[in-house]
Amino acid sequence: PKYVYRFSEGDKDQKDLLGGKGANLAEMTRLGLPVPPGFTITTDACRAYLRDGVVPDELAVQVTTALRQVEEELGRQLGAAEDPLLVSVRSGAKFSMPGMMETVLNIGLNDASVQGLAAASGDERFAWDSYRRLIQMFGKTVLDVDGDHFSDALDAKKAERGVKLDYELDVDALKELVEEYKAIVAAHAGIDFPQDPRAQLDMATEAVFRSWNTERAHIYRRREKIPHDLGTAVNVCTMVFGNMGETSGTGVCFTRDPSTGRSGVYGDYLVNAQGEDVVAGIRNTLSLADLERLDQTSYDELRAAMRRLETHYRDLCDIEFTIERGKLWLLQTRVGKRTAAAAFRVATQLVDEKLITMDEALTRVTGDQLNQLMFPQFGDDSGRDLITRAMPASPGAAVGHIAFDNAEAIARAEAGESVILVRRETNPDDLPGMVAAVGVLTARGGKTSHAAVVARGMGKTCVCGAEALDIDVESRTVRVAGRETPLTSDDVIAIDGATGEVFLGEVAVVDSPVMTYLRRGLDEALDTAGDVDTRELITSVDRIMRRADEVRRLQVRANADTPDDARHAIHRGAQGVGLCRTEHMFLGERKQLVQNLILATDDAAREAALAALLPLQKSDFVQMLQTMDGKPMTVRLIDPPLHEFLPDLTELSVKVAVDRERGTLDPADEDLLNVVRRNHEANPMLGLRGVRLLLTMPGLIELQVRAIAEAAVERLKAGGDPRPEVMIPLIGSVRELQLARERAEAVLAEVSAESGYELNFPIGCMIELPRAAVTAAHIAEEADFFSFGTNDLTQTTWGFSRDDVEASFVGRYIEAGIFGTSPFESIDVDGVGGMVRLGVDGGRSTKPGMKMGVCGEHGGDPDSIAFFHRAGLDYVSCSPYRVPVARLEAGRAAV
Ligand code: ADP
Ligand code: MG
Ligand code: MG
Repeated sequence: PKYVYRFSEGDKDQKDLLGGKGANLAEMTRLGLPVPPGFTITTDACRAYLRDGVVPDELAVQVTTALRQVEEELGRQLGAAEDPLLVSVRSGAKFSMPGMMETVLNIGLNDASVQGLAAASGDERFAWDSYRRLIQMFGKTVLDVDGDHFSDALDAKKAERGVKLDYELDVDALKELVEEYKAIVAAHAGIDFPQDPRAQLDMATEAVFRSWNTERAHIYRRREKIPHDLGTAVNVCTMVFGNMGETSGTGVCFTRDPSTGRSGVYGDYLVNAQGEDVVAGIRNTLSLADLERLDQTSYDELRAAMRRLETHYRDLCDIEFTIERGKLWLLQTRVGKRTAAAAFRVATQLVDEKLITMDEALTRVTGDQLNQLMFPQFGDDSGRDLITRAMPASPGAAVGHIAFDNAEAIARAEAGESVILVRRETNPDDLPGMVAAVGVLTARGGKTSHAAVVARGMGKTCVCGAEALDIDVESRTVRVAGRETPLTSDDVIAIDGATGEVFLGEVAVVDSPVMTYLRRGLDEALDTAGDVDTRELITSVDRIMRRADEVRRLQVRANADTPDDARHAIHRGAQGVGLCRTEHMFLGERKQLVQNLILATDDAAREAALAALLPLQKSDFVQMLQTMDGKPMTVRLIDPPLHEFLPDLTELSVKVAVDRERGTLDPADEDLLNVVRRNHEANPMLGLRGVRLLLTMPGLIELQVRAIAEAAVERLKAGGDPRPEVMIPLIGSVRELQLARERAEAVLAEVSAESGYELNFPIGCMIELPRAAVTAAHIAEEADFFSFGTNDLTQTTWGFSRDDVEASFVGRYIEAGIFGTSPFESIDVDGVGGMVRLGVDGGRSTKPGMKMGVCGEHGGDPDSIAFFHRAGLDYVSCSPYRVPVARLEAGRAAV
């Protein structure tokens, strides 16, 4: 097989094979942009290596051929003694994994070629500095030597020479350092630093392959749901040098601001610097405007390349570039990561610039991003104690105790505390701490620093480059410029990822502008918006939400049990209630009335208990129907097991025993205990609940249906438009539904006769047992609608008890690859989804146009919504808070 592709051979659609970086390097090469020549070793080669432990046989020859072509093109040879060609060896998987895997620069330098580089560049210092960087990077990433050995030697050398900064070391010092570095390699790796350029190249390639399986790569993939078996490609790219003096430099830029979405370019540039200096945030950077002043020609060329890439990819791109003595080179591009706010704004900007259609704009944003924009923000109160203002790198409002490192962040987060990870700068080793923290604050680095990029990717609040902070991990203190007392782990800070402000102490949080829009509408949100950015964001969200509402087929309803919930849901755009649970209507003070019903031994006692409950239930429904006037409202008759309305068996047993001992036993308690004992179940969730309870407990269906019907009559009398739908839970057999339905219809007929109003509300059932899904064609004969209860359906299809398995083994199952995500979070499309399909097909085979929906947590989950759309459901019902997310995702599913 072909394992090696020259940059001129591939294109951007070959990410599976060439990785994201390789595919985009190829695309830029094809566009005629200035990319240093090179080639990509495919992910196939990586997978073969990981499988066999050795690279495939054919690889060596293919690399030789590709290398020779590069050498011929440039007229230089890898690691030659005279004017050597040097290359970088860069990892690049299908999905970008920032900082996850290693890049080795300056491959090809050795004791001879370093002289050649010095001669060719006319800069001896530069050549030796490049060589010592190679040994350091190669030692660390390829030979697994602890990086501290090198940085200690570097620090010692600087101290010895009485200088502070790396670049103040002179040639002699660097030559000595090279020898010391070689000794470190020999001592700790057990082999000499390889002088053979090709051996360097091959060893680095294998190291990149191996880095696919480092622990932090695993953690990142698990979190981002990237499959573990993709492997990475390796890009071998001619070195260009940003560290050849003041007319050289290296930078990162975005075609639009990835943080706010503001149109206009954005970037960081470092003069006389190489490789990762920008991303690592080690020095503070210049802006693109500064670059324009320094080097107008390169700047203009860069701007032209940015425009070219953006119109070509039709999206925001980020670009890594290097200027070598006034000549611009592009080293990387990709469709850039961005904040949620930027995603919405950029999408509508691109529509206005005629680069994409409104339907494409819908696909450029996600429900998760909308969800992030709904997070609350800091309120406008004046009592805040501002410590400093730094770079707003990833939005949100985070409040928590200071944590200084991974271990502290993880331990305190596990103990239930909110913590903010406070670091000088972050690197890939800090990932677990960033995951555990609610926010990240760094003292160094710009918007393209590691902390900023990773936090944006995780949707975590981040403020970076807070230079006023002096962080000392050893003593666990943060000194703040201009303040006496240092901060410690006991202090609470609040960071604002939208403004970059850092406050000491708790700060109150309020609705975000997008939340205000969702709750109160466009006009009010625009009126209260503070600035142009916010107004543009609200307008973008509004346009995209309107489009989603236009194109979606799925209706969105809410799960709401109270008029308050129902109101919230309507404000967020719900088109009905898909699940109104009635069990809570039997709790609190009413529990006693329900107990009377359960304990009733004769008709009279039962009638009295029912009579007491009826007006209460009815008034609940009147309020709900009033709130939901003109919109469908599915009322689920009582669902939980009987024992939930009774006292706890153990507690009551103890009480009765104690009272008996003391001679104060109330005989009623003794009766109650007998009832509780009789109704005790080992597996209540599989016991007497749902329709089983409704059919065995005399009067219960009649009570509930009468309450609904009388409430509807009251609303009709008041001129309202009540649209209740009666839903029977936990149906397994058509006969159950038939019996329940007969009784419900009888009550409807009675109330109809009493009131003179026609009451033919739909009567349907939940499909939440495999038997119901399998026999859906029969059940449909008695049902006016189906609602898939995917929570119970997941439990019963897998045979899991949700409450038990989530705590015990779901995590381990995810790690073992048995689940991608918990099936309770995102629907298991193959298994539980198959049940849904069976139910849909069965039901519609009996009643073609039958209305079907889904209620349960999955109704608000983006991936699940896409599935429900494909499965042909009519609506999803989710918690009121998730309604906007569901509207957007339903729209995305339809385009
Ligand atoms: P990452 O995936 O972490 O972005 P890269 O492969 O892009 O890693 O490399 C890291 C850094 O090294 C980049 O900032 C890039 O600018 C620099 N670099 C990589 N290859 C070269 C090269 N051929 N010449 C000069 N700099 C390079
Ligand atoms: Mg890069
Ligand atoms: Mg259920």
